[in-house]
Amino acid sequence: MVSPTVVIGAGPAGLTAAHELAKNNRQFLLLEPSDKIGGLFHTEAYQGYCFQLGRYLAAEPCRIYYRDRLFNYPLSLTNALKHLGPIDTALSTFSSLKARTTAILLPVLDPSLDPYPKTLESWLLERFGGHLYRIFFETYIQKIWGISGGKLQSELLPFAPNTFEGKSSWKQYSSIAASMSATVQKNTRVLRIKHSNYRVSRIFVQKGDEITAIASSHFISTLPLSDLIQRLDPPPPPAILQAANSLSHRSAITVPIIVNIKSLSLDCELYIQSPDYKVSRIQNYKNDPQSIHQGIDPNKTCLGMTYFCTQGDSLWSTADADLIHLAKQELMSLGFVTDDALIEQGTVIRQPNAYPIQHISGVRAQALVQDYLERFKNLQTAGRSGLHTDYGLTHAMLTGSLAAKNILGEQHNLWALRSSTIVDKSLGQVLEQLLGQAMESDRSPDSLTAPAAQKTTTPLYF
Ligand SMILES: Cc1cc2nc3c(=O)[nH]c(=O)nc-3n(C[C@H](O)[C@H](O)[C@H](O)COP(=O)(O)OP(=O)(O)OC[C@H]3O[C@@H](n4cnc5c(N)ncnc54)[C@H](O)[C@@H]3O)c2cc1C
Repeated sequence: MVSPTVVIGAGPAGLTAAHELAKNNRQFLLLEPSDKIGGLFHTEAYQGYCFQLGRYLAAEPCRIYYRDRLFNYPLSLTNALKHLGPIDTALSTFSSLKARTTAILLPVLDPSLDPYPKTLESWLLERFGGHLYRIFFETYIQKIWGISGGKLQSELLPFAPNTFEGKSSWKQYSSIAASMSATVQKNTRVLRIKHSNYRVSRIFVQKGDEITAIASSHFISTLPLSDLIQRLDPPPPPAILQAANSLSHRSAITVPIIVNIKSLSLDCELYIQSPDYKVSRIQNYKNDPQSIHQGIDPNKTCLGMTYFCTQGDSLWSTADADLIHLAKQELMSLGFVTDDALIEQGTVIRQPNAYPIQHISGVRAQALVQDYLERFKNLQTAGRSGLHTDYGLTHAMLTGSLAAKNILGEQHNLWALRSSTIVDKSLGQVLEQLLGQAMESDRSPDSLTAPAAQKTTTPLYF
């Protein structure tokens, strides 16, 4: 008898892998250390408000707040110039024209030059010029990533949010998550992964105080690469451990705040570029058609204030009460609420490992880890942090699905989906189509490990 495939992590990648196995009558064991499914992409509830984390809100408008003015998001050159004063407009126009002319002329003058910019900063400079880069991107990149754009790979750009993560992948994800939710073994953390000759024999998991061993012939991990490598027993060579540990993440803290105001003049999503504020993003859940609000006072509004940080830094270590205080202060100082008596209560949600950092020096480390893991015959790594990418939901789901298909006999290279050759925005649509086809070909086998998928567009509360 074929032993159940062990799928580690019930985020979008793990759920999709399990779904694919179930569709093909294959048994699986889906393990999740928390009591929720969905990973970064799960639904939280606070005082009757439900909202999806790990997702940029689908509705418009989303805007950028800079020097008390609002600019379109995503930023367009024409809109930026329209709202900046005459001096900034003149400087921006000049630097933007200069950057674009240089980008066209340089490859002609020196054909040996690589036409694709290497860093996030050079990519943005080429498109917007130095002046707009300094206004709109420099500090925001620092806020999100904790490092300058000159140290980040340009690879993540084609997958920047809102470029392709459309509503269809959200629907597909909701459907898959609904079908898999009953089958997840929650509160179960993988501690150790026992292997020899590049074959995993069993894993040790902890649930409560109990530690048990689970044997299987196939394993799919969606753990961050560093977590996966650290759990291998015996440990890999020190160079591999060191490389994996260098693949770090940024974390996110969201502070939902309830304001005693029926309707705030605040967009669905607002990006705060200014370094004067620690908050990077404010979401108005009331303006998000996909959020659900049950049994709450319609005269109130729930906002989500998001702060980016590094696990263990001063922001991450700040006590919840102080974070709520900070969020309230910043909301007042931004002018969205004028009377602090109107700000009622708040809570704190921490998301570790939210953004895999695509550091330019990480290319070699990733290659080393990839090369090592590819030697394993029955262990695949999938998903966002499992491949150390900053791509979105569709990519995570696709890699989970392909990992399962590999077990069913197909041959897909999941790492290739994160290669630096992916520079074409249209790939997003291709991924969407592939996932769409996977859903269309859904069938309802008689005996599934998990219940058959139910198509639903309702946001889920996990
Ligand atoms: C603030 C934010 C906004 C985002 N917005 C968007 C967006 O608008 N569009 C979009 O497409 N994507 C967006 N994303 C990205 C999206 O959330 C991720 O791409 C997606 O969740 C990745 O899925 P995953 O399954 O690969 O990883 P994850 O969601 O990280 O899931 C990994 C799972 O592994 C589990 N795990 C960890 N340790 C263990 C262990 N020891 N044993 C067992 N399991 C373990 C975790 O608990 C988790 O459930 C956003 C992310 C963030 C943080």
